[in-house]
Amino acid sequence: MKTAIFFLTLFTSLTVLASQPRKVLIIGMDGVRTDALQQANTPNIDALISSGFYTYESWHEGITVSGPSWSTIMCGVEYPKHGVTSNSYSGSNYNQYPYFTRHAKDCLPNLYEVQIVQWAPMSDNVYNDGWDQKIKVCDGCGANSVSAAQTQLANPNLDVLFVYFDECDLTGHSTGFNPANPAYITAIQTVDGHIGNIITALHNRPNYANEDWVILITTDHGGIGTGHGGNTNSERKIWWVGSGNNVIAKQLTNVQDPGSYAIGNHNATLALSNPSQADIAVTALDHLFRGTNCNPVNPSWNLDGTSWLDSLHSEQPAGLDETALSDVKIFPNPATDILTLWFDNSQQENVSYSVYDMNGRTLLHEQEVSMMNAHKLNLDVQSLRKGNYLVKVQVGARCIVQRFSME
Ligand SMILES: [Zn+2]
Repeated sequence: MKTAIFFLTLFTSLTVLASQPRKVLIIGMDGVRTDALQQANTPNIDALISSGFYTYESWHEGITVSGPSWSTIMCGVEYPKHGVTSNSYSGSNYNQYPYFTRHAKDCLPNLYEVQIVQWAPMSDNVYNDGWDQKIKVCDGCGANSVSAAQTQLANPNLDVLFVYFDECDLTGHSTGFNPANPAYITAIQTVDGHIGNIITALHNRPNYANEDWVILITTDHGGIGTGHGGNTNSERKIWWVGSGNNVIAKQLTNVQDPGSYAIGNHNATLALSNPSQADIAVTALDHLFRGTNCNPVNPSWNLDGTSWLDSLHSEQPAGLDETALSDVKIFPNPATDILTLWFDNSQQENVSYSVYDMNGRTLLHEQEVSMMNAHKLNLDVQSLRKGNYLVKVQVGARCIVQRFSME
């Protein structure tokens, strides 16, 4: 009887886990240098860092200006694709490379998505973005942004919320982007207070305990003197934070600078294995799409970013034995283009797989893949570069993780 109750409890908890609606909150702080964030007293951001992913060493790979930078953050591609090279937004190519919210809605049409921004061009000059509501408050009016966010977060149907704060950038332009500038530090701390109020409103959602939120916080560029737009480390070194059930809990250190399209020394291989602005949109899509048939790395979208969700360690339901899928063979290892796995699926259960780098970062992810027959699954891994990887295959409730190499 005890055993029966245990399994009933396990089944119930797994059912609840699987049915939790996945939602995303992105908070943008314009113009916050990494060294200034480190120096400021930001208890609310620190609380998210303590339980999640963060990097103080994300290098800007494009033009350190707001329009191009926020476009990269929201579209998941760098400026050679989204086409925005200035704050005029002229030349934008959002029809081909839209905001992630457009991709999300195209696959999940019932999503309810809202942005709250202070800076008008981000609201007025972006199209094909999928937002259900574009709320504009006055520039630098953080309390108004919080109030609007509290209203939106009280709506149980809300799925994606982006809240943008301009205070730090405005203060940097007027008094200096510098960790030694008390006004700049105060602006960062003020916005941290706004973030605390937003997180409180999130936690107060009536159904929060039954929802699965990922929170992403970032900046678009740093600054030097009273400006930005150049390629100094003070302008290019940025940061971002991710928090939520499936986010890797670690600090990304030893990050290598992949260079910049703006400088002309961009290294695509280094960019793939280091955190970048373009990763934020893909991480958001990955979260929203888990448990659906939507693919966050749809090849036709041609995204530059990759996901920092770590389903390898946390999406696997508790209580399931990783080796429950026994007798898996993998060949060739090292691989060059096709990786073949053999295992029994004579019950024709649903098969999905993910490939991760050794940081647990999602590089490939496919739901409901077709097998060649009841035993053989071929994975196309030719997009992976030389190195070590992990593949997780889920077959019904069974799953296995295998290590392999690319040569
Ligand atoms: Zn900016």
